[in-house]
Amino acid sequence: MANQRNILELPVEYIKGIGPAKGETIRKELNIHTVEDFLYSFPFRYIDRTTYQVISDVREDGDLVQLKGRLINFEKIKGKNNRYRHQGKFMDASGSLDLVWFQSGIWLEKILQPGEEYIIFGKISIFSGKKSMIHPEMELVKDANTNLAPTFSPVYSSTEKLNAKGLDQKARRKIIRQILDTLTSDDIPETLPDYMLAKLNLCSRREALLWIHFPENETQKNAATNRIKYEEFFYVQIRLLHGKIQRKQKFISIPFSTIGTNFNTFYKEKMKFELTGAQKRVIKEIRADVSKTTQMNRLLQGDVGSGKTIVALLSMLMAIDNGLQCCMMAPTEILAQQHYDSILSTLDDMDINVAFLTGSIKGKKREKILQDLADGSIHIIIGTHALIEETVIFKKLGLAIVDEQHRFGVAQRASLWYKNDSFAPHILVMTATPIPRTLAMTLYGDLDVSVIDELPPGRKDIQTLHKYESARPQVIEFMHKEIAKGRQIYIVYPLIEESEKLDLQNLQEGYERLLQYFPLPEYQISVVHGRMKAKDKDWEMQRFVNKTTHIMVATTVIEVGVNVPNASVMIIENAERFGLSQLHQLRGRVGRGAEQSYCILMSDYKLTKESRERIATMVRTNNGFDIAEADLKLRGPGDIQGTQQSGLMDFKLLELSKDRPIMDTARNIALRIIENDPNLERDIHITIRQQIQRLRRKNKDWARFS
Ligand code: ADP
Ligand code: MG
Repeated sequence: MANQRNILELPVEYIKGIGPAKGETIRKELNIHTVEDFLYSFPFRYIDRTTYQVISDVREDGDLVQLKGRLINFEKIKGKNNRYRHQGKFMDASGSLDLVWFQSGIWLEKILQPGEEYIIFGKISIFSGKKSMIHPEMELVKDANTNLAPTFSPVYSSTEKLNAKGLDQKARRKIIRQILDTLTSDDIPETLPDYMLAKLNLCSRREALLWIHFPENETQKNAATNRIKYEEFFYVQIRLLHGKIQRKQKFISIPFSTIGTNFNTFYKEKMKFELTGAQKRVIKEIRADVSKTTQMNRLLQGDVGSGKTIVALLSMLMAIDNGLQCCMMAPTEILAQQHYDSILSTLDDMDINVAFLTGSIKGKKREKILQDLADGSIHIIIGTHALIEETVIFKKLGLAIVDEQHRFGVAQRASLWYKNDSFAPHILVMTATPIPRTLAMTLYGDLDVSVIDELPPGRKDIQTLHKYESARPQVIEFMHKEIAKGRQIYIVYPLIEESEKLDLQNLQEGYERLLQYFPLPEYQISVVHGRMKAKDKDWEMQRFVNKTTHIMVATTVIEVGVNVPNASVMIIENAERFGLSQLHQLRGRVGRGAEQSYCILMSDYKLTKESRERIATMVRTNNGFDIAEADLKLRGPGDIQGTQQSGLMDFKLLELSKDRPIMDTARNIALRIIENDPNLERDIHITIRQQIQRLRRKNKDWARFS
């Protein structure tokens, strides 16, 4: 007899009625390998047999409807374009409806049984003037009506091949039912500690699995969903936090034990402004971290313009005062150059050697830099990903800073860790892309987070306006007024991914049109786009920075970090083509000085519901975190930068945009457990320790090194 834990781990062929052929199909089509995998392939919806709508009531309104009736006719029809479609007539007591399939194989003809009663599910559309349902989900009433599931019948994701192999909904339900009936509660060991179940009022694992497939009522369905979601997130959190503790035990850094001359001189004599309260708090947090031998791994989040650079610089001075070197890596040359320039000028005449390295610095110049880095005479090096190349060797790298960290791959960032032989540098990663808390908990759950949530004083909120093409003349007039006041203006064109040529054409046309209203030589315009040589780009940027040019026409290359406080207007052309976070980043290029700034979103008249929503969100709020939350709701986490690269987002049930309360609870509990029992050694945590080990065996690539 297989021992208890093993039943769940047995291959699917263990299940009665599944032989090698079906087993193979299940593995291939569903990626289900074990009995346990089967139990964890949850229904994506349920047929609630207590509520059906009737045909005469349903509308073409985009809502999903469930109907019960008879399929009275089914035929293949040749359409106008000589393409075949299948069409059926479906009737209930109130009326009839066409069912339409455009692409369908013989399987449809094989499977559908005219004359039988069906439950159908889908959206209503009007097709050839008649209420229709295109590609409905269909289920024989007699199949749905088994006593397997009296109220809710589970519906599983399916494929043609599965149906062809006889693994349709009915069969799937039977398999699951059978597994659940066979397994005793000993076969489904609890994965959460008992005290936790009691405290949070969660159902057992066995109940959860039973009820998620065959709930008898709404309460059971919710209890199961709740428990599974909690467990999913709890284990992500506890693993992240546990991993962090283990990493802290493994990596040793050099503590910055003294605050020395450089820091003090700079702080007292060179700094041109008073730090904001938020900046002071963050410096204290960093200071506390770097004074230890455990490696700092801190994320600094702060909206654009919140003043992260000075925090970075002060941290670097701490390192230098302790005989250590620093590096600061930025994702683009423009940004790296800007950091370099601004840090050089901020440091003024202080005796600190700052160097700059990118891929385009070659030959003798490069050799000299590498030499000076290796012998320790360079204190700070600023650059692009060129910094992580193997040839870049430090004498003693004490602090590595990564700006706009989400632009780098995980491996790229991690390679900075190994720049020294016997110790790891402290790490500070910075981002101006606010991340919704729920997402941050997952993506950065193993980092310590500092937030600058206060802008330097005197900043006015940027006014954001949405304008259509018809308002162009007013926009031009407004531009004239701002320029007359001595301000500068950005105009940004979208990147059209399919065609770089089109991009340039767009930008070029925009530029030429602009020349009509802002003629040379009275007005000067900079043009910057991604296909220019770095040198030319910098030259153009420089002309804008030193106020030679009034207007900067650009593609999104200026999105990241560019700082020209005198620029007060950001005009975004075809704003409907940009994502929310990108719009927000672009807007952040203005509002950096003391003047009132404006962001004008130009758009087409035709807007999708989503782009309308994005633009409305921009007009409504300046708060990066609000924007990030809205973005998460609109797009889901899948598209948000940085989420694809880890297995972290593979939740079966949990939804980041909706399950905040569950996530907060799970995170807090995980934090408390790790605080009290960092290595999970206590008896009450044995279940957790074992489950972490099981999960680790199951997915080996689940690794974190932010
Ligand atoms: P970001 O967080 O976007 O990187 P920066 O570090 O570029 O922001 O800062 C934006 C601007 O605000 C810079 O011109 C910087 O000199 C200025 N700044 C930063 N901190 C303060 C402060 N405490 N008081 C006044 N100005 C500040
Ligand atoms: Mg910045």
